[in-house]
This record gives sequence, structure tokens and C-alpha cells, in this order.
Amino acid sequence: MKKAIVIGAGVGGLGAAVRLANLGYQVKVFEANGHAGGKMNNLQLGDFRFDMGPSIFTGPEYVKELYDLCGEPFNQFPYQKLEQPFNYFFEDGTTINLKADKVELVNELSEKLGESKKKLRNYLKKCEKNYQRIAPLFIEKSLHRWQHLLNKKLWKALVGIPRYKLHQTMHQENAATFNNPKTHQIFNRFATYNGSNPYQAPAMLNMIQHLEMNVGVFLPENGMVQIARSLQGLAQKQGALFHFQEKVKEIHLDNNKVVAVSTDKGRYEADVVYSNMDVHLTYDRLLPNFEKVPKKILNQERSSSAIVFYWGINDVFPELTVHNLFFSDEYEKEFKDIFEYKTIGEDPSIYVHITSKIKSKDAPKNAENWFVMINAPIDIGQDWEVLKVKTKEVIINKLERVLKRDIRNKIVEEFVMDAPFIADTYSGKNGSIYGNASNNAFAAFYRHPNFSKNIEGLYFVGVSVHPGGGIPLALNSAKIAVTCMLEDQRKK
Ligand SMILES: Cc1cc2nc3c(=O)[nH]c(=O)nc-3n(C[C@H](O)[C@H](O)[C@H](O)COP(=O)(O)OP(=O)(O)OC[C@H]3O[C@@H](n4cnc5c(N)ncnc54)[C@H](O)[C@@H]3O)c2cc1C
Repeated sequence: MKKAIVIGAGVGGLGAAVRLANLGYQVKVFEANGHAGGKMNNLQLGDFRFDMGPSIFTGPEYVKELYDLCGEPFNQFPYQKLEQPFNYFFEDGTTINLKADKVELVNELSEKLGESKKKLRNYLKKCEKNYQRIAPLFIEKSLHRWQHLLNKKLWKALVGIPRYKLHQTMHQENAATFNNPKTHQIFNRFATYNGSNPYQAPAMLNMIQHLEMNVGVFLPENGMVQIARSLQGLAQKQGALFHFQEKVKEIHLDNNKVVAVSTDKGRYEADVVYSNMDVHLTYDRLLPNFEKVPKKILNQERSSSAIVFYWGINDVFPELTVHNLFFSDEYEKEFKDIFEYKTIGEDPSIYVHITSKIKSKDAPKNAENWFVMINAPIDIGQDWEVLKVKTKEVIINKLERVLKRDIRNKIVEEFVMDAPFIADTYSGKNGSIYGNASNNAFAAFYRHPNFSKNIEGLYFVGVSVHPGGGIPLALNSAKIAVTCMLEDQRKK
């Protein structure tokens, strides 16, 4: 039986473990922390439960694909579609309540922002078409192997080139399509879903909104961490073994081929190794003597980080829903002064996620669990204690101003996550959440491939490699890596 080792039980690592075990590999997953899911973590503060990392669940079909692969019924994974997923708040009092229903969504945006319904419908249709053309190529295949690209899907994608507006940025396309700057802000913000800047990221990325606005936003019954727990269960059912709190210290090579990994507890032989650790740190820490490091790829601009406040709030806010966004305008400056943002992609809009809106067990009666996030630069040695104090002040002032309610005195529990926490806890380089940024038209080609060109048997999964950040993409990274491995074996 061939042996596969997976380093890290983040979403990408779990996807790889399921697929490898299903292929009949003897799979061992080594995870430095005590839980599966990596950044998809859970936090309990008193009687309040929080999703600690990802909160917007799109593309459940990518999870279903793994259940189907294993012949397991997907109803083991209970989740629901949110009927009113997002409320948007602007400083001037404009409030937009977005429904999952597309007709209602278009009506709301048209009524509140004065945009033509036809334009909105056409824009969303275009996002869908672009996604359907591009995703099978850019998201589900390797961009680093010609045989992945030379197929019918390539021709379909090429036919759509004029639609992708390759010469434009996301913002340019949105500004050319809609009149109201608020509409630009709404559609621009999807760039932050992979830590990029809408003023630099290619217009093609306006397809990101398809998953949220056309297909929907979902919530697993027991919080986001249920995605990780169920994938762990699925992998175990296929025979994978999990070693928690066992950090991999080194990948051992023989003649540029992986042969084993070692941890504090021992050395484990392997035919193939899949790293879900940030690709930079895999080279830096696990392969310190390896010389052919792909420096150009690793030296690309990093995506952003975040500060997240987890607050137990001793009150109920009927004007809020599960996902809420407080857009920035003149107050952007206050955040800019704090963070010295380099890119507008580090968008200082405030995002508030409240699962207790529909899951009463996540907070006590007459209370709510608030996950309050602001995008922030990566860690380059700033004084994060000072940044957190200043940020909290600006956030509370803004939320109190917009909601016209007391918040400061309602906070009964608090935990704060910042870039150094992300770097230390999940081994994310400099606390970057999504690996490389996508701030130019060729960024996708500068992500590290899902395989090593120089080390036989080494594969990469997770947000720091192709195709990029977010749960659907991390799951696809595992699919692509395993496909590449099977191709490599056929070549032998
Ligand atoms: C605050 C926040 C909000 C987010 N919001 C969203 C969202 O709404 N929607 C969305 O789709 N995505 C979101 N994301 C991104 C999402 O978390 C990731 O895209 C997803 O979880 C995939 O991560 P990954 O596979 O790269 O693994 P990670 O989560 O990075 O996990 C890697 C794992 O590897 C382990 N590891 C690293 N090195 C070693 C080693 N040497 N030995 C053993 N184990 C090791 C780490 O401990 C960790 O558990 C968010 C992330 C954060 C932090």
C-alpha cells in the first residue's frame, strides 16, 4: 500500500486526505494544532460560540463532490441557504437588505441606488457566464500543465475573452457599468474575498460575485467548523489517520524525491507528501537545505490580513442579519491613519457576522455573538497592541454612529485575532490570509503550482498555492494536486 503524508489539516489538507484515502493510499495527516480545519476554527467565550475564521460559505457543491466521490450520502452534512444573507449600511443612513431571491435582490439595489434593473440583471448574468467559462479552467485545473489547458473548456473560455475585459480592473468595469458610487463599492468589495485590490485586480475577478449573489450564501447547521469536522470524519471513514498536535519539522529527500517527514515524535516514511502549510514556510522551514526554491513565485505581493474582534453582546439588534457590512467613506481616512494601508484592497469596511441570528444556541437569550472583522495589512513588525486599541475605538464609534445604539457597554466577552495570531497559530506567512494577492492580470500564473517541479512526490494544497484563497478554491487545490500526482505516476 502506498503511503501518503498530508502536512496540515486545513480545508486543502482535508480535501487531499479524503481523495488520497479514497484512492487506497495509507494516509497520515499531521496537524500542529489540536483540531481539524486550520483557520476554520471555533471559539467559545462563556456562553457564546463563534466561527473564528471563514464565515461566508459559498459553493457547497465542492464539499458534496467529496461525499459523492466516497459514495457517502451528502445529507450527513446539514446546512441551509440564507434567505436574507447580507445587510449593507452606509454612513449617510442608506441601508440595503439583500435577499437570496434574485428578483428581490435586483429590486432592492435598483430602488435604493437608482440603478437600472436591466443593467443589474445583465451584470449578474455576465458574472455567471464568466464563472462558468473560467472556473473549469482557472479554478478546477492546473495552469502549469498544458494537458490541463488543451481541451474543449479552453476553447469555451477563449471564446469569452472579450467579456472578461482583460484591459480593465474590477473597479473600472464596475464604474463603467453603474452610476452610483455605492454600487461600485458593493461590487468592488468582492476583491477582498481573496485579499486583493479592486483598483488593481483584473475585471475578470468580478465573477467572484456569482457564487454569492447568483447561487447563494449557506451556513452549516453547527457553524463553519462543521465543514472541517465532517471532512475529517469522511477522511477517517476512508481510512486516513490523524496525528494532532504533531508538527512536521522536516521533509526528507533522497535524490530530490520525497522519502519521509519527521516530527518531534518520529520519522514517517512516505511515497508522496502533500503540504497544506503555507508554501513559503514549507520551503523555509521544512526544506531548509533545498536550493532550487522558486523565488520569483514566492516573492509576489502577499494578500491582506485582518483584525477580528469576537464580542459577546448583551443585547439584540433586529436591524442586523447574519452577515452585515458597514461601508467606509470619509472614515476610511481614520483607518488609513492607523494601518498606513498600502492598497485600497485592504478595504476598511467593517464586517459583522452573527450566527445567533438563526442559531439560538450560539448566544444566551437576548444576546448576540458578533464577529467583527476589518481587513488589515500583513505583519511587518507593527505594534499590534496599539493597532488593536485604536481599531476598536474607530469600529465602535462607527457602529454606534450608524446604528444609533450603544455598543461599547454591551460587550460582555471579547477575544481579538490579529496578523501575528494568524501567523503563529496557523503558520500563515506574515499573517496573510489568502497567500499571494491577485493584483494583476497575470497573478493567477504566478501562484505556486500544486506540485513541485523539482522534487518528485511533493504536492501543495491550500490558499497559498493555485487556485487561491477561500474554501471552494482550497478544496479545488486538493483535486488538482491529486490529478497531477496520478498523471505523474502514469508517466513512470
Ligand atoms: C478571519 C478570516 C476570515 C475568512 N473568511 C472567509 C470566508 O468568509 N469564506 C471563505 O471561503 N474563506 C474565508 N477565509 C479563508 C479560509 O479560511 C481559507 O481559504 C480556508 O480555510 C483554506 O485554508 P487552507 O487549506 O489554506 O488551510 P489553513 O486554514 O491555512 O490550514 C493550514 C493548517 O496546516 C497546519 N500546519 C501548518 N504547518 C504545519 C506543520 N509544519 N505541521 C503540521 N501542521 C501544520 C496549520 O496548523 C493549519 O491547521 C477566511 C480566513 C480568515 C482567517
